[in-house]
Amino acid sequence: MPEFSIGVDLGGTNLRIAAVSRDGGLLEKVTLGTKVALGRDHVINEMCDAIQRLSSKYKSTGIFLGAGIGIPGIIDMQTGMLRKSANLPGFEDYPVRREIERRLGARVVLENDANLAALGEQWLGAARGIGNVAVVTLGTGIGGGIVLEGKIWHGMNGMAGEFGHVTVEPQGYLCGCGNHGCAERYASASAIMRMAGEAIASGEAPSFAQAASSDPEFGAKSIYNLAIQGDEHARRIFRSFGRYLGILLAGLINTLNLDMYVIGGGVSSAWDAYAPKMFEELRARSLVYAATAPDNPLGSSPSGTEEGASSQTESRSERKTVITLALLGSDAGLYGAARVAVPAG
Ligand SMILES: [Zn+2]
Repeated sequence: MPEFSIGVDLGGTNLRIAAVSRDGGLLEKVTLGTKVALGRDHVINEMCDAIQRLSSKYKSTGIFLGAGIGIPGIIDMQTGMLRKSANLPGFEDYPVRREIERRLGARVVLENDANLAALGEQWLGAARGIGNVAVVTLGTGIGGGIVLEGKIWHGMNGMAGEFGHVTVEPQGYLCGCGNHGCAERYASASAIMRMAGEAIASGEAPSFAQAASSDPEFGAKSIYNLAIQGDEHARRIFRSFGRYLGILLAGLINTLNLDMYVIGGGVSSAWDAYAPKMFEELRARSLVYAATAPDNPLGSSPSGTEEGASSQTESRSERKTVITLALLGSDAGLYGAARVAVPAG
């Protein structure tokens, strides 16, 4: 009988659940709202009900291996308890894993959602077939995860991969974490809006003020659209974004020397606006990147031209540092959750 697991993405607004076969095939996906306001027990009840409905449906034809649950917060991997979660009040210091295991009567793994997004991309996405990868997720803030030899690297106590709080500007803006100049203050959706707000306030970007007053959904996407249309202020914002993302990645590359770095999250799709500056920064700041950069890091022009083939024969056999976009979008965490539920071996 085919084996399957259940992946759960427990966010502050959505509860998404998927049944996934052991070889990565999606059997079924369900999206429910997370009624966080109704309290922890309500959220856990709803989640367990949904997992049970889905698992019993596929148990008739397959073997249920367990459930992986992605949570936005820091998790104590030993106890299966949340140390800290801004979006799920009441979950701290509560035996979440033990409680869910008791109700389901199945193996349950709790994991940080950014770590699971990294594992999902490594298993079935941009880094499929690549053992060692770091995934940097650019959203409102910056999330991250490191996968080594196909396994999430947790660090000593589950806190590895906090890329968003690496300093990129020593005297920079204050971050919620208490540090100044964290990467997520400079290369995230909120950073784009901060820069746009500053440009509007200074009176030097009338195009932004106009867009902001006419577009009720004025946001990072609007600034991107302006950049693509050639608006100089918008382009400057994405160059700054690319520069700081490059500074962050240069540090990761020099430290880790991994095969691949995957950029995901909502803002990552503005790639053509920030990537040129990011690659320029990487070459300037990382000796490891400069030594291992692919011939065509942006991946936009055709490779394997005759000239390239004759002059690059030597370097082609060497391994390159690849920086690329994530492929699975918000499903990465869901696939990662299903993957982590599969027992090793
Ligand atoms: Zn910070």
